[in-house]
Amino acid sequence: KSTPRYDYIIVGGGTSGLVIANRLSEDPTVSVAVIEAGDQVFNNTNVTSASGYGRAFGTEIDWAYESEAQVYAGNKTQILRAGKALGGTSTINGMTYMRAESSQIDSWKKVGNNITWDSLLPYYKKSEYFEYPTEAQVLMGASYLPEFHGTEGPLAVSWPTEMVGANFSSTLNATFKAMDLPWNGEANSGYMRGYNVFPKTFDRSLDLREDAARAYYYPFTTRPNLDVYLNSFAQRLTWSNDNSSVAFANGVVFTDKSGAEQSLLATKEVVLSAGSLRSPLLLELSGVGNPAVLENLGIEVKVDSPFVGENLQDQTTVDTDYNASQNFTGAGGFIGYFNATDVWGNGTAAFSKSIKASLEQYANKTVQATGDITDRETLLKLFKIQHELIFEDEVVISEIIVNAPSASAGLIEYWGLMPFSRGNIHIKSANTSVPAAINPNYFMLDYDMKQQIATARTARKVASTAPLSNILTGETLPGLDVVPQNASDAVWGDWLKSVYRSNYHYISTAAMMSKELGGVVDDKHLVYGTANVRVVDASVLPFQVSGHLTSTLYALAERAADMIKASHA
Ligand code: FAD
Repeated sequence: KSTPRYDYIIVGGGTSGLVIANRLSEDPTVSVAVIEAGDQVFNNTNVTSASGYGRAFGTEIDWAYESEAQVYAGNKTQILRAGKALGGTSTINGMTYMRAESSQIDSWKKVGNNITWDSLLPYYKKSEYFEYPTEAQVLMGASYLPEFHGTEGPLAVSWPTEMVGANFSSTLNATFKAMDLPWNGEANSGYMRGYNVFPKTFDRSLDLREDAARAYYYPFTTRPNLDVYLNSFAQRLTWSNDNSSVAFANGVVFTDKSGAEQSLLATKEVVLSAGSLRSPLLLELSGVGNPAVLENLGIEVKVDSPFVGENLQDQTTVDTDYNASQNFTGAGGFIGYFNATDVWGNGTAAFSKSIKASLEQYANKTVQATGDITDRETLLKLFKIQHELIFEDEVVISEIIVNAPSASAGLIEYWGLMPFSRGNIHIKSANTSVPAAINPNYFMLDYDMKQQIATARTARKVASTAPLSNILTGETLPGLDVVPQNASDAVWGDWLKSVYRSNYHYISTAAMMSKELGGVVDDKHLVYGTANVRVVDASVLPFQVSGHLTSTLYALAERAADMIKASHA
């Protein structure tokens, strides 16, 4: 039987991959295949339910990768969740639609990319089908500026049908105001500081979660030039045998549901969109990576690309519980976004200075912890850019989500947004069934814990500030017996390390940066050293964004699709 041949093969039918598949297959003369390890989940109620966050965890659609023991954080491993389904992680995520600080996207320019917030904004809008809130929703806190939203894209973005009422939003607004944190009527504008009631990737007219497959695939299944291979696990790329100095990928080998090996041929390009905890592994399995990693495992080096799998960054989340005097119904998310000055007050300038003075030591420690792959000077440059983002551009660094109490209990969750720690991910075997070594190095660098502690203290202050303090009547986790009111950093640090989890915002494992800075792809997503392999997913973000990832990933994928089209026009 002859091997099926396509112009483009996309590995991973997830958040980013389905955008590419959709846009490329708009041209009926172009053929596109998607290889997706999971199944379709159109009728899976763990996915579709608007209030079902968490239900899919631990089920067959959650990869639930396990990290290495985290030596700087109590030596425990962490579960790293990611969606295994058509639609990828967008089928199991929290649905928060929140972009980035404009200065964060602008900073990508400093690492060699021709991208700015202004050039990405049209793509955020292109992807979006923004459903304007109803009058009733506006009264419950839904707020926006129309110039920042698109209404003709595929991705439904709106506020939940049944929002939390009973003045909960205005109670929070008064609380944050009392802490000098202003109302932000449009946090998706590139300026995030303040309190807001955020929109979600949610289809209000159907009252269903919106995921990448619902937005970008199901309405387009009749396209004869778009084939999706479900339950198909990509093993590696194949290369053409020509002698050119840049490698040309001509196909993908995968195993089907029965475990049988199959392959597809690509005549134009192969796009890796398997997620930040998979795409770098597929590169390594295909011979693109650090020779020291590959040769050890008997994999022939096709492209010497030392930084594949390096630069891994994530954030750390903590939940705290309260007794509540009042119960609420309805869905909705309420966030306070604080910057460095908000959390460190008068001490910010001195703190900034001390962190700046630590950057060399951070670089040294990172080089050591990641096996001497990245060099000190390069890391120092990256850390200086990050320091500028935090202390000069004053991007928000603390996210505090206050959930409306129910069943006499309230929940506040929070995380630090701009940790410096960097780890890595690498294959441990040429056999794809052996799990990779994933090491985010949580809390390796002391800024990260200081940021987490400052966020924790701020969250506790939110709970004890009126009028919210009339509703949240007592902290039960950690509780003042475990972490007293004036607890030291050491006490806070011990508790935070004992309870933290991954925030699931893993990025940068095939970073979009100049080669000299340790990049794996250029600003057109093309893998250095290859003629026709791109990575389009969370692997490419060079720095963390303070928003949640999907909005930015949809925008980046829309942009990437335009670039792929242009390069074959
Ligand atoms: P994915 O969407 O993960 O797509 C990768 C796809 O590739 C998957 O379908 C996978 O099955 C497939 N794949 C992997 N390996 C192979 C292989 N070898 N062969 C074939 N297919 C393969 N972001 C937000 O914006 N808002 C939120 O509220 C939010 N909450 C989150 C909550 C959780 C629990 C998690 C895990 C993440 C959350 N995020 C959130 C983050 C966000 O959802 C992800 O960063 C984003 O969806 C990742 O998109 P991606 O395109 O990089 O990869």
